[in-house]
Amino acid sequence: MIHDFTYLKPGSLQEALSMLADHKDECKIICGGQSLLIMMRQGILVTDYLIDIKGLDELNYITYDEREGLKIGATTTHRLIEKSELVKKKCPILVEIEKKVASIQVRNWGSIAGNLAHGDAQAGDLAPSLIALGAKVKLASSKRDRIMPLEEFYTGFFENAMNNDELMVEVRVPPIQDRAATTYTKFNLIGNDQGIVGVASTVVIDQNGACKDARIVLGNSGVTPIRAKNAEKILRGKGLDDGLIAEVAEAAARDADPVSDIHASEEFRRHLIRVLTKRMVKQAWDQAAHL
Ligand SMILES: Cc1cc2nc3c(=O)[nH]c(=O)nc-3n(C[C@H](O)[C@H](O)[C@H](O)COP(=O)(O)OP(=O)(O)OC[C@H]3O[C@@H](n4cnc5c(N)ncnc54)[C@H](O)[C@@H]3O)c2cc1C
Repeated sequence: MIHDFTYLKPGSLQEALSMLADHKDECKIICGGQSLLIMMRQGILVTDYLIDIKGLDELNYITYDEREGLKIGATTTHRLIEKSELVKKKCPILVEIEKKVASIQVRNWGSIAGNLAHGDAQAGDLAPSLIALGAKVKLASSKRDRIMPLEEFYTGFFENAMNNDELMVEVRVPPIQDRAATTYTKFNLIGNDQGIVGVASTVVIDQNGACKDARIVLGNSGVTPIRAKNAEKILRGKGLDDGLIAEVAEAAARDADPVSDIHASEEFRRHLIRVLTKRMVKQAWDQAAHL
């Protein structure tokens, strides 16, 4: 049963921010409701006010500029991103990642910010992938705006760096560097659902074919998305060979902090991290080397 609440429908971003400022300790934002309503129906989340931002067209956009890259408004749905010609041209991997999110029905209604701001985003597809792409998020309140790297957004289990008077208004994905490629995959038992483990990898290759920079980001491998920084360190400056990839995969499994739950044991998750890291790093490297 859903507890009673007052439904608020702002007509502009400014009005939404002022409603948030007025009710900050007792309200929740709702956009598509795909994740939020499940929690309300289960009684896990009780709120006095719901502020519905779904209809705010000023937050529904995808633009690109050479300096800052893609800018995606908070209420933009997964499906719009997946179908966007601009995203396909400037960041094709994001289209592929979006295709892995849930079903078309969920993608038609769920928003990018709802996905990232939801408590269990560490288990979703977008948080690890967008961190591997170096994405930032723009947060706004009635007092100020701020921009932070997405990797700093997640602070703990169902916790993030957003203050209770703040709204996520935009996601920014920087331009893809030369000779860089990003890959992402997940292992799941049920199609169209979050992965038991997900691994995203970005590899940048230098003129000599060695690794100039790397990001390896693990999903559902800890209470937040985890950057496997020791694994990344092993890659930098080296040329690719099977021994190196095995070493990187081992380090990624050690960098992770997975739990055992009804879906998989900790041990199985570490095994998946090894296997998927090997695949994703190799794929990203091969793609970058052929650019
Ligand atoms: C059946 C099913 C399968 C799914 N499978 C996957 C999957 O395979 N991969 C995956 O990544 N995800 C998956 N999801 C999650 C799905 O992507 C999210 O539910 C959806 O994107 C959330 O968007 P929403 O607009 O509906 O958010 P809502 O449900 O409205 O909100 C979610 C949370 O974000 C907050 N919020 C929303 N917008 C903002 C904002 N602009 N600023 C601050 N806080 C905000 C809300 O307060 C709430 O806490 C699945 C969901 C379902 C229901």
